[in-house]
Amino acid sequence: MNTYFKTLKSILEGKDAITFFSGAGLSVSSGLPDFRSDKDGFWKSNTPVHFRDFINNSESRKKSWENNLAIHKKISGAVPAKMHNLINELINKNTKNFHITQNIDGLHKNTENPNNVLELHGNIFNCGCLTCSFESTTLDFYEKYKNEADMLCPSCLEGLIKVKTISFGQSLDQNILSIAHQASAKAKNFIVMGSSLKVSPANSFIKVAKANEAKIIILNKDKTPFDDYADIVINDDLENIYEQIK
Ligand SMILES: [Zn+2]
Repeated sequence: MNTYFKTLKSILEGKDAITFFSGAGLSVSSGLPDFRSDKDGFWKSNTPVHFRDFINNSESRKKSWENNLAIHKKISGAVPAKMHNLINELINKNTKNFHITQNIDGLHKNTENPNNVLELHGNIFNCGCLTCSFESTTLDFYEKYKNEADMLCPSCLEGLIKVKTISFGQSLDQNILSIAHQASAKAKNFIVMGSSLKVSPANSFIKVAKANEAKIIILNKDKTPFDDYADIVINDDLENIYEQIK
């Protein structure tokens, strides 16, 4: 085993707080398409709708709902990969560990310590009103209201109902951002898994961790703009990395 893997393994087995930061690469071994290496053209036929367009016209809202339902369908039956499970085992062993994720697929879900998983970009399983606090599950709401001309709120009667994924141009949840910031600042080790770290403000957390002297580890198939920041960079599939450290 080379020294990088040895060091990584000892960090994972150690007691110092770890904050994981994951992107689409984490779910690739669960069979989900990566936005950038989109071989089947899934994202091409489900082009994301900008938040501004969602607000402004009903055609875009329809498209947005269709996209989210297509993603829902795509991931139904997908099961967590070994790395997802490893992260959750480590969180359950030490609740100072956190997992910040850009993924909306729910494969990272931790039933024992749900608050230690921070979904920056929301998730596709729930939807809610943009005006009041009404919420529902995506599939239940869709089944009930799919024949309506527009997805309007049954509670306040005027708000738009949107799936709880964060669209381009939509603000991230301030509460989640703030907890993710704290988790990054307190981490002794900050481990990136399967993210190219190209999306802002998601990629700001690595800077916070670095400024607070965390050890930075980047596990990603391709190079990232933050590789110079890192103490360890391993460019490989997470599955292969898992085999080295299990
Ligand atoms: Zn409402």
